[in-house]
Amino acid sequence: MSAADLRIVLLGCPGAGKGTQANSLCERYGLAHLATGDIFRGEVAADTALGREVGAYMKRGALVPDEVVNKVVAAKLDTLRGGWLLDGFPRTLPQARELDRCLEGAGHKIDVVLSLQMRPEEVVRRMSGRRSCPACGEVYNVQSRPPKAEGKCDKCGGALVQREDDKEATVRQRLKVYEEMTQPLVAYYRARGALREVDGSRSPDEVAQALLGIVDPIVSSRSGARA
Ligand SMILES: [Zn+2]
Repeated sequence: MSAADLRIVLLGCPGAGKGTQANSLCERYGLAHLATGDIFRGEVAADTALGREVGAYMKRGALVPDEVVNKVVAAKLDTLRGGWLLDGFPRTLPQARELDRCLEGAGHKIDVVLSLQMRPEEVVRRMSGRRSCPACGEVYNVQSRPPKAEGKCDKCGGALVQREDDKEATVRQRLKVYEEMTQPLVAYYRARGALREVDGSRSPDEVAQALLGIVDPIVSSRSGARA
């Protein structure tokens, strides 16, 4: 089995930089990056039967039910031959069970579930420092990436604002929702010995190194076993 056959689930609390880490893992190991939002939009755009079903929920602003999400993800996995990284799925325990059932049917399994963890205080500190430019969309952080002039966008000179999403009360609420939703999922993967937790509060480079420190040995144990 080559690195390309890796099957990874990436979990991360809000503010843990999951998107950045997903991109670098996919690049390093040649994995398809599967984010459910993107898959949904792809199906809707292609106007498939599933896409119409998903689109109906999205149009109403309703949460797409597990059963439909599972169908969409299963259909997508079916079309892939190499390895992949799932980003934003599974989100619930029923979704995780269904994913396992699907993979078993095809003789596969998840190699590792990587979870980026942060203390709530650290998430709040990081996210409440975010400032965005409404004019050009550039994002700054007063602690880690301040603009050259306070409150002013480096790129276009626009006045920076704190988005509603980044305010402390909203961040705490999002964390609470994330925690409640993922706890059973995390317990499920932990019990199966698939879960590896990484401290997401370090710098993006340090987090990336920690992730490679987990995934590289999986890749080499595979190639060793085959040789
Ligand atoms: Zn700007």
